[in-house]
Amino acid sequence: MNTPPKAKLFVEGRYLKHSRDLPQTVFFCPECKGHPRRRRKCEKCEGFGKLTKDSVQELIGWVLGKAAGTRKHKFHGAGREDVDVRMLGEGRPFVMELVDPRDHQVDLAEIEATINSRNEGRLEVRGLHWTQKGRVRFLKEGTFAKEYCARVEVDRRPSEETVAALIGRRYEVAQQTPSRVAHRRADKVRERWIEVLDVQLDPEEELLLDVTIRTQAGTYVKEAVSGEGGMSKPSIAELLEVGSAKCASLDVLAILDDVEEDEAGGTAPATPGFGSGLS
Ligand SMILES: [Zn+2]
Repeated sequence: MNTPPKAKLFVEGRYLKHSRDLPQTVFFCPECKGHPRRRRKCEKCEGFGKLTKDSVQELIGWVLGKAAGTRKHKFHGAGREDVDVRMLGEGRPFVMELVDPRDHQVDLAEIEATINSRNEGRLEVRGLHWTQKGRVRFLKEGTFAKEYCARVEVDRRPSEETVAALIGRRYEVAQQTPSRVAHRRADKVRERWIEVLDVQLDPEEELLLDVTIRTQAGTYVKEAVSGEGGMSKPSIAELLEVGSAKCASLDVLAILDDVEEDEAGGTAPATPGFGSGLS
């Protein structure tokens, strides 16, 4: 191949996050923003410039960037999960943009193996391949339904009848912008759909449930579970009649390819799927 050097390279893949302490992108200190000069005197981060030692972006970018001869990279994920939420299943699609790489002869299979062996139990990447800039927009603008498993602490156990009546049903939720994101999102009410796919009662812990749910893109899941004092209605707590409910931990099980909504309210995955942007 005699392709001329490019100022940017784009690598696409999926990541799985097995830990609950890993942000998706560099977690800059909110006080000094990681600024090389200002961070030196910053009390918030004690000069580190960041609030966590690493991130999905850095763990991938350090290996990839070293091989490609650049320290500059941008991470584009198909959405993101909170720091404490695991990303399981087939992982979340992302594109890593390498800026001004010196070396274009990079063995992506080797990179993938290195990242995975270094981060076993924390981070895993799959299917690294070269892609084009256009995929960034597809991932950023796509609206993807998702599946989650929420570990839920409740006041009382739901009855079997209540559980049975809820499973498989799609219902509409009105969500006021949650207080935890109100500083960066417009305060308004959003209409979203949710389907409860499964409810498992913990055999040991009386007041613990594992609830598997599928949600429309842009649903605030933790709030959909708890209701956040009536700001998300109806909540899973209300529908299960369990008193108050708290989302103790959350896992993303699947990022679904564009989900088409049919008349009956069911869902069917549309084609093409992720990874089809191979050139
Ligand atoms: Zn700082």
